[in-house]
Amino acid sequence: MKKIHVTIWNEYVHEQAQSPAGEYIRKIYPKGIHRYLAEALAADDLEITPVSLDQPEQGLPDELLNRTDVLLWWGHCAHAEVKDELVDRIQKRILAGMGLIVLHSGHLSKIFRRMTGTACRLRWREAGEKERLWVVSPSHPIALGIPETFVIPNHEMYGEPFDIPQDGKIVFMSWFEGGNVFRSGVTFERDRGRIFYFSPGHETFPVYHDKVIQRILGNAVRWAAPSEYVPDRITPQPEPPETIRTENPLAKLDTSALHR
Ligand code: ZN
Repeated sequence: MKKIHVTIWNEYVHEQAQSPAGEYIRKIYPKGIHRYLAEALAADDLEITPVSLDQPEQGLPDELLNRTDVLLWWGHCAHAEVKDELVDRIQKRILAGMGLIVLHSGHLSKIFRRMTGTACRLRWREAGEKERLWVVSPSHPIALGIPETFVIPNHEMYGEPFDIPQDGKIVFMSWFEGGNVFRSGVTFERDRGRIFYFSPGHETFPVYHDKVIQRILGNAVRWAAPSEYVPDRITPQPEPPETIRTENPLAKLDTSALHR
């Protein structure tokens, strides 16, 4: 079986914080969100590598990135520490075919903003309120086997307006106890790459312990995995499939210098 190579990147800051909040989060994710998800998503068809910002080359050396089929991204307070050079390399890999799954507060990550081209701002509130999600695209592969509606008992509210491009396809919508609504699961396509933004996953609630959430992420990994890579985006002028009979008025003008 050809395995999908999955890399789970986590900034891994909150889980190591020496504070009461850090201790609380460590009870939910003792080895960090990345390692928790690596164990939760383990399956025969996946080869999963959890990495973090504090590792050499910020967790993503070329050798690893260039064999990653799907990259999961959890970040919150350290977005600015991620080097632009790394964002360039990830973007290039996505455009060639790698899938990207952006989790929760990753909406403000450099890579998500790079890929959307928008500010990705949203409203938020930490009141530990109930979130109800709805599947709005039941035929989408990411919604396979997911109940039409389900509840996260306590979560951080993320609300509209959410500044993402209008070409996003909505798979999940959320309603919050306080009255807000949010596009909580949205897909994008950028060149050869598939992108899924999924908002559940605030660090102080055990959201990733939920089997429905795990199933959604597993579905998303398989949906985002590329069937092929097309690494060079600049292709030479192909031979036309039809014969061109129109006389080219610029035939005698050398325009080759304009294309360098
Ligand atoms: Zn959060």
